[in-house]
Amino acid sequence: MNPCKLFFTKGIALVGLLLSVALSWAATPTTLTPEQAFAQLQAGNAQFIKGRVLHLTAQSQPSVRINAGTNGQNPYAAILGCMDSRVPPEIIFDRGLNEIFSVRDGGNVLGDIEIGSLEYAVEHVGVPLIVILGHSKCGAVTSSVDYYLMNGNTPLTVPAPGYGYIGSLVNSLLPPINTRYNKGTHDRAPLIEESITENVTEVADSLYRKSTIIREYVEYGVPGTRPLQKVKIVTGKYDVVTGVVTWIPWNPPAIP
Ligand SMILES: [Zn+2]
Repeated sequence: MNPCKLFFTKGIALVGLLLSVALSWAATPTTLTPEQAFAQLQAGNAQFIKGRVLHLTAQSQPSVRINAGTNGQNPYAAILGCMDSRVPPEIIFDRGLNEIFSVRDGGNVLGDIEIGSLEYAVEHVGVPLIVILGHSKCGAVTSSVDYYLMNGNTPLTVPAPGYGYIGSLVNSLLPPINTRYNKGTHDRAPLIEESITENVTEVADSLYRKSTIIREYVEYGVPGTRPLQKVKIVTGKYDVVTGVVTWIPWNPPAIP
């Protein structure tokens, strides 16, 4: 067989296998609407601020683990957040097992892997809500701002050798920093905090622009749902001192 054709055939078979495995992981999708899922997170954050993470405890009981492990998962929110140890989604939203798809990296940046993970959550597990979550005092953004200022505000250049793979992370965070700098924020401290907010918005925009799958679920809804249920994207910023998540208004960008 032609090697290319063989590769293509095997590739299709592999995708089919992965999809069948993926579907077998998922139980019946959640019945929560995006609005109900969002309300769960808001209520959970309110509990966390009070220092009462009761739901986390209840939802982590052995019976919940065994049921989800046996019958499959049905989370209702997918959260792209930072890897920062002060911002674990399950704790700050008082959620437990089988409730959140947690996608985390430095600076809650968006690469192909993160997009694929969020597409998987929406298309194969039926998650109705995507959250893009930044946080105050983000180390990844702080380091990127320092790099940006140190290099004479010459944006979007490849970080200097010696940064290792951290350079990829810095590169991903330079555009929102550049946006805020060009809008007139030049001092380091406000540039850091404004860039964190800007990054959240630009990540949501980028996800919507790049992912045809997610865009269709947001715009046209989940096939077969009555009434038609549309996936929702929300954006927020978590304060590492107060524990409060402030929600940032976001609307889908126009697609040419
Ligand atoms: Zn961070």
